[in-house]
Amino acid sequence: MENTFVFTFGSHTDGDKSMKELLGGKGANLAEMCNIGIPVPPGFTITTKACQKTIENGMHWPDSLYEQVIKGVNHIEKDMNLGFGDPNKPLLLSVRSGAAVSMPGMMDTILNLGMSDLVAKALIDQFGNERFVYDSYRRFIDMFGDVVMGVEHSLFEETMEKLKAEVGASSDLELNAETPEDAKVALDLGAQGIGLARTEHMFFGADRIRSIRKMIMSENEEERAIFLKELLPYQKEDFKDIFRVMAGYPVTIRLLDPPLHEFLPHDENELEAMAIDLQMPIEQLKRKVVALEEHNPMLGHRGWRLGITHPEITKMQTRAILESALELLAEGMETKPEIMVPLVGNVREFKHQKRLILEEAEKVFEQYNARINVQIGTMIEVPRAALTANEIAEEADFFSFGTNDLTQMTLGYSRDDAATFIPSYLDAGILTDDPFQTIDREGVGQLIHMAKELGSITNPNLKMGICGEHGGDPRSIELCHELGLNYVSCSPFRVPVAHLSVAQSAIKQAIEDSALYAC
Ligand code: PEP
Ligand code: MG
Repeated sequence: MENTFVFTFGSHTDGDKSMKELLGGKGANLAEMCNIGIPVPPGFTITTKACQKTIENGMHWPDSLYEQVIKGVNHIEKDMNLGFGDPNKPLLLSVRSGAAVSMPGMMDTILNLGMSDLVAKALIDQFGNERFVYDSYRRFIDMFGDVVMGVEHSLFEETMEKLKAEVGASSDLELNAETPEDAKVALDLGAQGIGLARTEHMFFGADRIRSIRKMIMSENEEERAIFLKELLPYQKEDFKDIFRVMAGYPVTIRLLDPPLHEFLPHDENELEAMAIDLQMPIEQLKRKVVALEEHNPMLGHRGWRLGITHPEITKMQTRAILESALELLAEGMETKPEIMVPLVGNVREFKHQKRLILEEAEKVFEQYNARINVQIGTMIEVPRAALTANEIAEEADFFSFGTNDLTQMTLGYSRDDAATFIPSYLDAGILTDDPFQTIDREGVGQLIHMAKELGSITNPNLKMGICGEHGGDPRSIELCHELGLNYVSCSPFRVPVAHLSVAQSAIKQAIEDSALYAC
């Protein structure tokens, strides 16, 4: 066991759900699903021990790892009746990272491993769809380049955008491709709205990142507004795509949340490339990077705080949301946009952003000579917001409990570092669950309860739900049901599990509420 670094699942399964520490959450659960007979594509998990040993050995793999991985691949080949690298019946692998505890943001993925010129040609012959095959090949090169070789993702995007422009392809396909697809999956699986559209993900395309970087490097509000204007059409198209898919269901769009330094490169080569691209001295760029550095970015210049120092971001995003909604209205499609302000802790913060949103909204309505109803709400992620929910609720149309940040700030556990000590807490029995997976009832749950009660006093119509990772966790969903929240928001593939959990909670509550008589 000590030197077993690869555990298979499929026709032969080595692990089970109790082995999270060794196989990571994903690996242990895949093994368990195989054990209980759920049809799962075969695969194998490289253990966390292999990772530890590699680090201990100065980044050298344990001796037998390579052979064990080959055996793992053979296992998949046998189950699938395909061959890795075999052009006649090619096997393509999806390589995903995992950990013993949830680590939002660190999950690197490489899809289509096994693609090669030969394999691509064979697949084109097999499927007769050149575009599909080359797109899969492109994705593989992009992900492998980014995750394994350290080549910045935006460089691939940039090349792709140039190529698309050359051949006249629409950028809609590529595009406050993935997001509308997620929405479609969620809808097909029974979702009744989008509880959290993170707009920062929409800024990373090659053409957009350039504009946001120019905006960050600008010296004043007027200059920033110019570059933000470049982003407006992209954001509008993103929002339109989502609204179209969600036809008539509420879509909650969160204003920009992460600190701006996340959009700047830090590596010397990338800094140089950016300086050349933006035609500015590299020293100026480095000064900006240093100026934006923060000791504790999670508690730093992010969320609504960006909206106060960069009000033009709030205005641009508001405009993009409302213009897209009004243009769709002109086509005969109704939308239900909800604008969400992140990281509020004080009603005055919320009022500040709400005023900006309403002022911009009026300008858009006047310009389009039409109006729509837009809900403006906030995330409850800062404990102070929960404690003063009665004040905030007087101003807000909805609350969305951002339980990732609320957990971080309530327990004082850094989201990015907790994985290093939570397993010890669990081992020692100090925690019974990872609080980033299952809501900490006594602490975070108490705050949600308090905020719900306080909020309902001053705003009986307040809509309330959660949008943290916990939205896909059955026990957290049960808590939300008990507290009487209106919705839970989770990733698309979790929607069926969430439905089931809500139904189970409802039945449990009905049984508890009803008296049982024997006759
Ligand atoms: C949260 O904090 O729960 C949340 C949904 O926001 P994010 O994870 O993007 O910080
Ligand atoms: Mg958050």
